[in-house]
Amino acid sequence: MEDKKIIIAIDGHSSTGKSTVAKQLAKALGYIYIDTGAMYRAITLYAMRKAIIGPLHFEKEKLEEVLPEINIRFEVNLKTGIAEVLLNEENVEREIRTLEVSKYVSKIATISSVRKKLVEQQNEMGKDKGVVMDGRDIGTVVFPNAELKLFMTATAKDRAERRYIELKERGEDVSYEDVLKNVVNRDHIDSTRKDSPLRKASDAIKIDNSNLTLQDQFEQIVVLAKNAIKNA
Ligand code: C5P
Repeated sequence: MEDKKIIIAIDGHSSTGKSTVAKQLAKALGYIYIDTGAMYRAITLYAMRKAIIGPLHFEKEKLEEVLPEINIRFEVNLKTGIAEVLLNEENVEREIRTLEVSKYVSKIATISSVRKKLVEQQNEMGKDKGVVMDGRDIGTVVFPNAELKLFMTATAKDRAERRYIELKERGEDVSYEDVLKNVVNRDHIDSTRKDSPLRKASDAIKIDNSNLTLQDQFEQIVVLAKNAIKNA
């Protein structure tokens, strides 16, 4: 008999390597990987381009007004096999990863109408199961019945160091202090917002990867996923 397909929800703090492990896991299982952070980032980029959000202002009502004009979807890059995000049909995969977007995204993600739009789309994307979805509210709000829920965390210092190296490798001119500030600030906004705050679901398995290599972590998670599939 063919294995039953399940939903794997990976939540956790910023820059805990959720997407790296989610991608690896999806590949190993033949599942679809969905990066929900990319969807919030794409809306943020749109708001930045339209000057709806900036260093000193945020026009929430304006964003709500233009929300119906914003179309987000994923398209698989045939070279890498990874789904990339399209904002109104423009591939913005690279642009959404800058520290500039990271500075505004958590504010945008507090808006309920933004969350409602994206959660509906995420529910639709996971309706046939066979997905690994990462974000902040996947196990609590998007798929509260997901068969496997993981909650990833690590010290802020470890996370900022990884993120700093990543941004530097991509050629961004950032300082470690700015990256650390951003990681701490996003965690704070994400955990204290009213709508769908970042929380560990009571049935999620917590993984602190401060002292785990990527390989060790992956091996642990594959075992958890295979068990969850067997028991589904
Ligand atoms: O995962 P990533 O770091 O790219 O997410 C960027 C931001 O998008 C998070 O800091 C959070 O504010 C928001 N987000 C969210 N809910 C999700 C995914 C991301 O609020 N499911």
